[in-house]
Amino acid sequence: MNYDCKVLANLLFPDVTETIEDLEKRYPERDLKEGARVTRFAPSPTGYLHIGAFYTALVNLLTANATGGVSYLRIEDTDKKREVTDGVSAIVDGFKDFGVAFTEGVTGFGTESGNYGPYTQSLRAGIYHVVAKALVEQGLAYPCFCSAEALEAIREKQENGGALIRGYFGKWAKCRELTLEDIEKNLAEGKPWVLRLRSEGDEEKKIIFDDVIRGKIEMPENIIDEVLLKSDGIPTYHFAHAIDDHLMGTTHVIRGEEWLPSLAKHLQLFRYLGFKTPKYMHIAQIMRLDENGNKKKLSKRDMGANLDDYAKMGYCAEAVAEYVLTLLNSNFEEWRAANTTLPYTDFPFNIKKMSASGCLFDFQKLNDVSKNVLSRMSAEEVYAKYTAWASEYDAEMNALIIANPDYA
Ligand code: GLU
Repeated sequence: MNYDCKVLANLLFPDVTETIEDLEKRYPERDLKEGARVTRFAPSPTGYLHIGAFYTALVNLLTANATGGVSYLRIEDTDKKREVTDGVSAIVDGFKDFGVAFTEGVTGFGTESGNYGPYTQSLRAGIYHVVAKALVEQGLAYPCFCSAEALEAIREKQENGGALIRGYFGKWAKCRELTLEDIEKNLAEGKPWVLRLRSEGDEEKKIIFDDVIRGKIEMPENIIDEVLLKSDGIPTYHFAHAIDDHLMGTTHVIRGEEWLPSLAKHLQLFRYLGFKTPKYMHIAQIMRLDENGNKKKLSKRDMGANLDDYAKMGYCAEAVAEYVLTLLNSNFEEWRAANTTLPYTDFPFNIKKMSASGCLFDFQKLNDVSKNVLSRMSAEEVYAKYTAWASEYDAEMNALIIANPDYA
């Protein structure tokens, strides 16, 4: 770099006056007892809750509960393409039906509780810009003006040349070399820009990491100059993840295994930002058996993938939740037999008892658990639940049942 990074930082973020230290004062370390875990469930408001996401949410919630910690719900709405109207309410109401209550975070559309908010990423732009500016000041981030066509041309060249690593890095990363004058000129012309990380990773070097359930994982360092802020100033998932989980005091990032390939990027970001790395735990997906007895991912189209399916099929929420618990910890049923009246959220969940490989979804087992859950309910409760279901899904049966409640 042939320029003063502070000058560039002021050029890109003239309105930002705060520093990371200021943010850290606003979000002080949590005062929790030794061993208490702070976890979060961080869905995008797509209006759809996959059973696998519910499974992940339960691991977060129970881990915090079992250690006297905090679990919070954060809405990750930085990808406007995936968002649907009412997506937040669908998630919050879905959890309520399943008896899941986070300690803090988003509680409904536009409402939240807790001291570490806002818990909706689109309301945190100012925070991300403070951190972005600090990275530019340290020479660890730069603006990139490459158009979509220019990026596509790079992608094609890399593909045709059989490049093993593809993306914006090294000789491909032209905007790394821009002078301050070039940047000033582009900005004056109103050219759109994204903010990229200036990666100093070395592809020959490996990072070794300890995942809570998977154990040691080795992967090459990240060499890609990842996008941190998109052209509208909204952060990418990677950038927001590091900032939010640091400021909100997350001790354990428990998320789906689809994020494992991004881990090198995340660890690098935490290092560049000088933030303590949280513990990570990557949860395997729920699988199902196909017609030929092969394990397959429970995909969006499969019956039972969407949490809403269960209400339609006539399963009560408690039964589904308890079934998921049997998948999480094999001693759940034993605990339930000994504690018939406690809510399932009191179960002393143990991360270490989870298996690292994907569990198998099994309707037979769900029916079994459901039968047990129903058998613990009073006749009145079952009647109320049944009529609530039938009034929506089976009008004929409902008419018969409500005509003679005593007999029913
Ligand atoms: N918003 C991400 C998703 O919906 C969350 C991943 C995470 O838990 O960090 O997949």
